[in-house]
Amino acid sequence: MTMNDNEDMTANGAARWWRGNLHTHTFWSDGRAFPEEVVAWYKARGYNFLGLSDHNVFQDDGDRWIAETTGREQYFSDYLAAFPDAKTRVGADGTREARLSTFAELATRFNEPERFALLPAFEATRSVKFSNGRSHQVHMNVVNVTSVLPSIASPEFTRNEDDVPLPEFIARHARETAAFAASRGEHAVFMLNHPQWQWYDIAPEVLAEVPEVRFFEVCNNGTEIPAAPELPGDGFDTDRFWDVANAFRARRGLPLLYGLGGDDTHVYRGEPHGGMLMPFNAWTLVRAAKLDGVSLAEAMERGDFAACEGLEPEDIRFDSKSRTLSVAVAAKPEAMRTIRFFVSKRDFSETPTRQITIRPSAEHDTPVHERTVNIYDDRIGREVATFRSAPGEALRASYTMSPDDLYVRARIEEPGRPLCTAYLHPQGRLVAWTQPFA
Ligand SMILES: [Zn+2]
Ligand SMILES: [Zn+2]
Repeated sequence: MTMNDNEDMTANGAARWWRGNLHTHTFWSDGRAFPEEVVAWYKARGYNFLGLSDHNVFQDDGDRWIAETTGREQYFSDYLAAFPDAKTRVGADGTREARLSTFAELATRFNEPERFALLPAFEATRSVKFSNGRSHQVHMNVVNVTSVLPSIASPEFTRNEDDVPLPEFIARHARETAAFAASRGEHAVFMLNHPQWQWYDIAPEVLAEVPEVRFFEVCNNGTEIPAAPELPGDGFDTDRFWDVANAFRARRGLPLLYGLGGDDTHVYRGEPHGGMLMPFNAWTLVRAAKLDGVSLAEAMERGDFAACEGLEPEDIRFDSKSRTLSVAVAAKPEAMRTIRFFVSKRDFSETPTRQITIRPSAEHDTPVHERTVNIYDDRIGREVATFRSAPGEALRASYTMSPDDLYVRARIEEPGRPLCTAYLHPQGRLVAWTQPFA
């Protein structure tokens, strides 16, 4: 599982970085834009791959129409101006309707070899209820599969009358996805989205127990986590979440959890939430020889990718013999970059130093959303090396693992306007995350 071992030189040339976003929404579900617009915007912005991950639906029904209801006039006029070949009709009540383009139509229209690939995607969206009154949001992206999971149509999953614990609930979806994709000859990517939304709904200990989940969103641009005053400021951010899951996994010999960046955009035009949920803030940078769903999935399974929030690495290498992680970021005028290396120590304690019960603010129901967050000692997610560039200079840094390190990962930072402003994200800086290596 090392990049230098897998360095991919093929007849098509050296592997290169491809920029993409696997999480965004359109009028196929609750996104506020037509799918052509969304694809065109990302492609024009220089993205190489995109997944339209609408909730519990895959875009394969050629007879889906949406009506120009009150409030949608601007969406329709923008869309019809940009795409004059769009199909419209007048509905039974006299309202104009527009047909939603399918995945196949969008791929035919926008895909370009070595430039842009639309990947099939959907977001399996569950609200799981337990008999103690608690409910948890569980949202899982499935990429590279051209049909929704059969269980999407079965309500018993969500009702959860047997009180299936969250790890098993998520594992069932991961196993179903793998079997369903295999039966169709497809290579699925399964990821757990925004675990902290909406109210610390999935704890890192849950993901520690589900090795079937290889990927989660370490950075999600579209969700906002309300502040929990009970939590210490540095006690439980997304990096700490990730390290708790991976410390437990590494100790048990399970595959490490990898982190993605995803826009999760629902609103594209700056209304009504201000700039908070706009696109192009969180993405994933994958290094592969070819731009197609299988090549990208295989690179991600090797850990050859980065999660990005406004900043991209130039290079990431892990030498498995010397157990050295090397990270480089290119020069940018006047910018000062920091590269931080994090590890978890082999002797970390699985007993939390503190357990904090957090209660939601007034807009949520208590005890439906009451949660307990475990705080561990600093042998989990310890920062072990920090390097800073001079203004405007490139930066390259390495860390060689100690025998008592379970894994190492790195984070590149640059002071800047915060992009993803959700409470748990790093504030006031642009960030890129490498994957953990061991
Ligand atoms: Zn979601
Ligand atoms: Zn979403």
